[in-house]
Amino acid sequence: MVKIACFSLLWISSAFAQNAAPMSKPPSVRFDIGALDKSADPCVDFYQFACGGWLKANPIPPDQARWGRFDELQERNRETLHAILEDAAKPAPGRDAVTQKIGDYYAACMDDKAIDARGIAALMPDLTRIRDLKDKSQLAPVVARLHRIGADVLFQFSSGQDFKDATEVIAQADQGGLGLPDRDYYLKDDAKSVELRQKYEVHVQRMLELLGEKPEQAKADAAAILRVETALAKGSLDLVSRRDPEKQYHRVAAKDFAALSPSFNWAQYYSAAGSPAFQSLNAVWPDFFKALDAEIKTASLADWKSYLTWHLVHAQARILPTAFVRENFDFFGKTLTGATEMRPRWKRCVDFTDAELGEALGRKFVERTFGKEGKERTLTMVNALEKALGEDIQQLSWMSPATKQKAEIKLKAITNKIGYPDKWRDYSSVTIKRDDPLGNDFRADEFEFQRQLDKIGKPLDRGEWSMTPPTVNAYYDPQMNNINFPAGILQPPFYDNDMDDAVNFGGIGMVIGHELTHGFDDQGRQFDGEGNLKDWWTAEDAKEFEQRATCLADEYSKFSVAPGANVNGRLTLGENTADNGGVRIALMALENSLANHVRPEIGGFTPEQRFFLAYGQVWCENEREEAARLSVLTNPHSPARARVNGVVQNMPEFRKVFSCKEGQPMTPVNSCRVW
Ligand SMILES: [Zn+2]
Repeated sequence: MVKIACFSLLWISSAFAQNAAPMSKPPSVRFDIGALDKSADPCVDFYQFACGGWLKANPIPPDQARWGRFDELQERNRETLHAILEDAAKPAPGRDAVTQKIGDYYAACMDDKAIDARGIAALMPDLTRIRDLKDKSQLAPVVARLHRIGADVLFQFSSGQDFKDATEVIAQADQGGLGLPDRDYYLKDDAKSVELRQKYEVHVQRMLELLGEKPEQAKADAAAILRVETALAKGSLDLVSRRDPEKQYHRVAAKDFAALSPSFNWAQYYSAAGSPAFQSLNAVWPDFFKALDAEIKTASLADWKSYLTWHLVHAQARILPTAFVRENFDFFGKTLTGATEMRPRWKRCVDFTDAELGEALGRKFVERTFGKEGKERTLTMVNALEKALGEDIQQLSWMSPATKQKAEIKLKAITNKIGYPDKWRDYSSVTIKRDDPLGNDFRADEFEFQRQLDKIGKPLDRGEWSMTPPTVNAYYDPQMNNINFPAGILQPPFYDNDMDDAVNFGGIGMVIGHELTHGFDDQGRQFDGEGNLKDWWTAEDAKEFEQRATCLADEYSKFSVAPGANVNGRLTLGENTADNGGVRIALMALENSLANHVRPEIGGFTPEQRFFLAYGQVWCENEREEAARLSVLTNPHSPARARVNGVVQNMPEFRKVFSCKEGQPMTPVNSCRVW
């Protein structure tokens, strides 16, 4: 990926892109006292108290891996996008260029009869290119072509900000080329992992059969593909290590980089990929490229052809004939996440339009849903949260004045982006045809790939967004040192004009606090206010920080989602730090806003109680065991119950407002606090 470190509020993996509910009418997603389980004791299990009613009333729809309040809101946004796209797809005279583009993309995607009738014809030129390879020395241009059309083969190549000079955009080569979600899926020996690998191999075999291979041949090829991917997995860095920026930064001269894998023709690759010339790049994890070279030598040309063929069809499966779509869902939806039914086609096509032409569709979404006042209201909250974090830093007992001063400088340098980009991405060069769905995807992918490469050596664009406007999420970018809130999340249950301050601070206030705190979590703290990887801590304060962070890592490692599947406290450390800090400073901001005001009880709860309930309810979520297992292995965010109970366990403020006794489950004797 382009950004090595970019910290979001929640995780939407490609497997979870299956998400959406088969609802006919948009759900109500507001904060709701009726969603509580009043039979539960908030001091014993606060998550159950805040969410129990909701969890019971909202079983997971069959086409879902999980179903939570985030998904409800995403579903409501999807309904809006659906209406936009159905209108845009009508070939009315006088459609503007943006409407034509998204409308025709969507119409082509929806026409499954035409897609079935065409079969794999549109894939043939690329399948032939792979088949005609005569020698492993010819791999580079084929790999470049596959990268341009969105297939993840061998490695990843893109651009990114230099870690030590954030104003410079440089080329970046990273590990990649796997079909399963993470390298650990290839390396773990427990029964579940072995079984998943076997099912994956069968899936690869079936996809090759759908391309016309004989079963025997496809079986042998699938085995070879798994061998190649396992070799790449062995050369890859694990997810926890990848959270350490120092391990991900290796700026080297282009010729030294090429020497890591001399069996691959890098000059040919750059040229075919469309890269501008450059003298040096970030070879994110150099050992990977040595492992890649060894595998190029070891695997046969026939094995590499099978591998490339599989990844080509895998990358495009969603827009191929029905048999491919079903087989793809069967493994990546059913086996990996537990969903039992495929989503209706329109939902998939809405999501693909968002993925391929996100700022064209997002522009129409913003026109329909997001007014100027939305931006202003959010800005007021951001200012309140920044003030609270400043106060929090000043009050810390464990940090020296010298480091506090540096932290203050970094906090003041954080900028914010709210709703949508000032300047919309221009897709005018992307040709979208009503009768060419696969070609549309290829051309949109090529546009994006080229757009990333064109940044190399150019001035940094600080206005760019890495999420589309309808997205229900938010992020902090440590190298931009900015916080970003797409229009999609600035709605109930996060922000609700008709609700009291307590509920809004527990919702969007917590989100803002979470993103701000990312600037000071175990990763974010390693970057300075200018976005450079630079140590601004005294040695003593760094030690104090690490000790407190370890407390959090140990606390969260105790949460379990299924037998043998515990949360990884180190993988989720940054997010847990952000949750804990975010809720604390959101509560401080609420207290600031309540000072000298009347403090009404609403629905029988004080403002502070409503604050915690609003926080808890944002995370109400049912999840299938398969999805939960996938999540603890790969998701840097903790599961919902841990996100809620893990935080309140650390807050004396919570004990006070719910009158809990020392030693109850939500009030352990030992609690953790970083920020
Ligand atoms: Zn986060």
